[in-house]
Amino acid sequence: MVARVVDLRSDTVTKPSDAMRAAMAAADVDDDVLGADPTAQRFEAEMAALTGKEAALFVPSGTMANLICVLVHCDVRGSEVLLGDNSHIHVYENGGISTIGGVHPRTVANNPDGTMDLDKIVAAIRHKDGALYYPTTRLICLENTQANCGGKCLSAEYTDKVGEIAKSHGLKLHIDGARIFNASVALGVPVHRLVKAADSVSVCLSKGLGAPVGSVIVGSKAFIDKAKIVRKTLGGGMRQVGILCAAAYVAVRDTVGKLADDHRRAKALAEGLKKIKQFSVDLTSVETNMVFFDIVDSRISPDTLCQVLEKRNVLAMPASSKSVRFVLHYQISDSDVQYALTCVEKAVEEVLTGGYKVEHLANGTTKNYYGH
Ligand SMILES: *Cc1c(COP(=O)(O)O)cnc(C)c1O
Repeated sequence: MVARVVDLRSDTVTKPSDAMRAAMAAADVDDDVLGADPTAQRFEAEMAALTGKEAALFVPSGTMANLICVLVHCDVRGSEVLLGDNSHIHVYENGGISTIGGVHPRTVANNPDGTMDLDKIVAAIRHKDGALYYPTTRLICLENTQANCGGKCLSAEYTDKVGEIAKSHGLKLHIDGARIFNASVALGVPVHRLVKAADSVSVCLSKGLGAPVGSVIVGSKAFIDKAKIVRKTLGGGMRQVGILCAAAYVAVRDTVGKLADDHRRAKALAEGLKKIKQFSVDLTSVETNMVFFDIVDSRISPDTLCQVLEKRNVLAMPASSKSVRFVLHYQISDSDVQYALTCVEKAVEEVLTGGYKVEHLANGTTKNYYGH
């Protein structure tokens, strides 16, 4: 018998479905660097249509997707980008926009709902008068859903307003839409509407959609032509990439309709956690597939809780020195949620009574690693 594992570390942990593997096996492929892979072309056309943009480009990861977009928009030395202080690009991408791209980041505070105040965005835009000493603002980045704020959705109206600010100041707007399909499902607004104001969008295929590998960038045809060159420069040009696009195609086809279940299960999980008196859970903060909760009993650290849970094959990651994050995805069932809750209750008891031993962490998956 295979032991039950409930893996709530991230929505990146899903294994490809049988349908994805079958599609990969059957994919018609050719050299995509030569622009000849038919499966990649079909997938990119589909993603461009879904997002309402002219063109799309498959890339190896979300990190590379964001980096390429920033580099294309900020191709002049001394460029500055405005982005959330809690954004993935700023916090979790090795500062690649600076170290590789030479682009200067200027952060604006993220509110708990994932937005940045419009007046703060405007105030952060550099004045042309200071061009002798200021960097030049060229780009604003939004993140939808905003992961570190708990998977919060940015509305189409908010995004449009940021788009208007960008336009009126001659700036571009990029959306890190790693989980834009989650936002679309939660808000009941099509993806193309949510990203209407954006000049570029990156979408993760390997998060909630469940593809094994990849992200896609969308934008105008001229933008994607430039992105293709930067992708090659960064080593992201891949050959028979249709193998991966075939899986991604199935992911988009089969999984978008299941995201609402992930969101419902995230709520159920949060409601269960709220009943545990050592935790503080804000139910209204659960908008999509992520649950962040605080541990209010100082005898329980997030690291210890996650380690004790790991012994019961429930995997999660600490989100800070006092909080833990659970992420739902299509391989987590209703009964997994109930099982996880039971394990959490037992783990809390075990920690409080000192009855736990963290001797051997079988696979070392529970790390003190705040992010993703
Ligand atoms: C995961 C993630 C990325 C990066 O994607 P990788 O494929 O892990 O490089 C970018 N932005 C957000 C908001 C993410 O959650």
